[in-house]
Amino acid sequence: MSLSFYNSLSKKKENFIPIENGSVRLYTCGPTVYDVAHIGNFRTFIFEDLLKRFLIYRDYSVTHIMNITDVDDKTIRRSIQEGITLSELTQKYTDLFFKDLTWLKIIPADIYPKATDHVAEMIEMIQILIEKKFAYITNDNSIFFNISKYPDYGKLINIQSDYLQSSERMSEDEYSKDNPQDFALWKGHKSGDGDIWWNSPWGKGRPGWHIECSAMSMKYLGEFFDIHCGGVDNIFPHHENEITQSRAATGSNFVKTWLHAEHLQIEGDKMSKSEANFYSVDDLKNQGFISEVVRYLLLNGHYRTKLSFSLSKRLEGEQAIQRIVDLSTKLKSIVDHDKVNPGLFPKSHEEFLNALDDDLDTPKALAVLFKWIKKMNKKIEDNKLSPEVALLGLNFLNTVDEIFGIIPPQIEMPENIKRLVNKRILSRKNKDWNESDRIREELYNLGWKIEDTPDGSLCKPVWSLKDQ
Ligand code: AMP
Ligand code: ZN
Repeated sequence: MSLSFYNSLSKKKENFIPIENGSVRLYTCGPTVYDVAHIGNFRTFIFEDLLKRFLIYRDYSVTHIMNITDVDDKTIRRSIQEGITLSELTQKYTDLFFKDLTWLKIIPADIYPKATDHVAEMIEMIQILIEKKFAYITNDNSIFFNISKYPDYGKLINIQSDYLQSSERMSEDEYSKDNPQDFALWKGHKSGDGDIWWNSPWGKGRPGWHIECSAMSMKYLGEFFDIHCGGVDNIFPHHENEITQSRAATGSNFVKTWLHAEHLQIEGDKMSKSEANFYSVDDLKNQGFISEVVRYLLLNGHYRTKLSFSLSKRLEGEQAIQRIVDLSTKLKSIVDHDKVNPGLFPKSHEEFLNALDDDLDTPKALAVLFKWIKKMNKKIEDNKLSPEVALLGLNFLNTVDEIFGIIPPQIEMPENIKRLVNKRILSRKNKDWNESDRIREELYNLGWKIEDTPDGSLCKPVWSLKDQ
């Protein structure tokens, strides 16, 4: 089966053929660093990480750029509110963002260009747009893109003009433009911007948000590159405007494939800062989540469907991860450790990869994995698993971890802990609740935490939760 993606631009599933054989140039819209990122943002970033891990697994060499939006209306407003400089504010949240990325095991991008380091490139692109008569200057020294000059405007979203007018980001661009649908490339300096401005041929001002991504993606990936990603809220106006201004400036195609992740929801609503209904990575850490469980829960839904999140999902995630870890432990005890890795896999491995080839169908791939785990457990129970087959199984689990990053580093359970866990299972069978509680406490004091679930008890090291 060949790799295919749903391209938001053509609105079709397409076979993926990179522009240059064997290599993929990938741009993902990064965070606006005015506050901590929430796990809705990380749903998109983890989806992009899975995409990149899978492309690498499929032997593509991937060049990945993720921008840092460190100047826009929100960052300026927040720095003024907090009485600190823009760079103090954005550095603080950029650092926190990188800390969260590392904790979530997201493979770093090759470059994280900051918007404020690329204003010259943005000015250059705006000048081209003015020269080509796609853009005009207003009397407050702002520059707008004239969408009436670009007949293809609206291809990405299939725009209706009433939708255009109701856009949130659009209303932020309320300068003295000719047409309400035109968008800002450059914003003339206003008193509310404080001392945030750059010199330009049109006087003091700052770039609009959309031009940032066009200028930075093309600087590092060329005028025409393979994949551009973001969350669905980026489709309009951000990506629509990026396509428009980039194609108008270069006269060439801009991006081959656009991929957009649906939103993470909480109680039926989009998780967002403005609704104050979000969890940060730190919130989840404080609730005892480990990174693999967060990754599993965020990858367990298809990226093109809405996914709902609640803290109560932690247990579901932990049980899933525990099933993988338990099988891995059993397989390791069965394999013949003298055998070199033969690079062979069980049949389910192919099925697992096929699911991912098909527009990154992660729920299907995970379903294949858990069905296979069930089968393997049965074989082990019946004493029918040979060391050779166990080795193929371990190879499969390595692939799973390479692509999903959901297998925690294994911590062997010491013998004394195993004995206590078994003793507690016995006391629970005998309904000796006092003894079972006493053993739970003893285990906790020894650094191991027990959690009882309808399907049995989970026991894991307390420090693994505290230290991450
Ligand atoms: P921002 O920091 O607002 O520029 O957003 C960073 C990324 O997170 C963008 O790609 C957004 O589309 C994405 N995003 C924002 N909210 C959510 C959400 N609730 N679920 C998934 N992705 C989101
Ligand atoms: Zn962007």
